[in-house]
Amino acid sequence: ETRDLSKYYIFGSGLRVDALREVNLKIEEGEFVSFMGPSGSGKSTLLNIVGCLDKPSSGTVFIKGTEVDYRNSSSIVSLHRQTIGFVFQAFNLISTMSAMENVCYPMHFNRTSSSLQKQRATELLDLVGLGDRLNHLPSELSGGEQQRVAIARALANSPRLILADEPTGNLDSDTGKKIADLMRKINREQGVSFVITTHDPEMARTADRVVKLKDGKIAPEAF
Ligand code: ATP
Ligand code: MG
Repeated sequence: ETRDLSKYYIFGSGLRVDALREVNLKIEEGEFVSFMGPSGSGKSTLLNIVGCLDKPSSGTVFIKGTEVDYRNSSSIVSLHRQTIGFVFQAFNLISTMSAMENVCYPMHFNRTSSSLQKQRATELLDLVGLGDRLNHLPSELSGGEQQRVAIARALANSPRLILADEPTGNLDSDTGKKIADLMRKINREQGVSFVITTHDPEMARTADRVVKLKDGKIAPEAF
């Protein structure tokens, strides 16, 4: 939940950019929400602040009912290790690690034993349809397959919320649809909440709810 969330940048020249203006938004547990809006409307900024990758200028964010304290780095680290998973437009896999090692990686930080890591990574890669690609490097996988690995990695520590900034932005429309269907399936079957940004109306249609942003504000009507 966000309350009166604002983010602005002020430059030496006096130029002020209001990326978000008093955004009030509530997302329920288990929802699949899509942010849409023109380039520069504030979608990534909102997602990054909700995901505690960036700080607001003013206003508050609540995750599972608890106000986020952006100055308390250990509480942010624990949100990143336990509660929130991320998927990025450019996949952001570690290029020198296999699919299996990429999925195991976030589990190191939660002190999961190496055998449990491998077992869980195998299950997750099976879930995303890559049970036969465990030892492939990212460069040996297609874009859609790399995004599947990224989704498996985002699920590694059983987050309650996955944030995805244009997860299908680098994929052709058929592959994008498959990735959207996969995220929707994980949402339905495992109850993980999803918040994604997209420019693709087709992708947005799979969401429970579309939040439209314009000039840093939530637009009540279609534009
Ligand atoms: P796109 O669809 O192109 O990804 P977006 O809706 O994700 O756009 P944001 O990246 O959230 O848009 O940017 C919102 C506004 O904030 C833009 O006007 C952008 O120029 C500005 N902005 C974002 N990050 C910064 C920054 N680090 N410094 C200054 N201005 C920024
Ligand atoms: Mg963006």
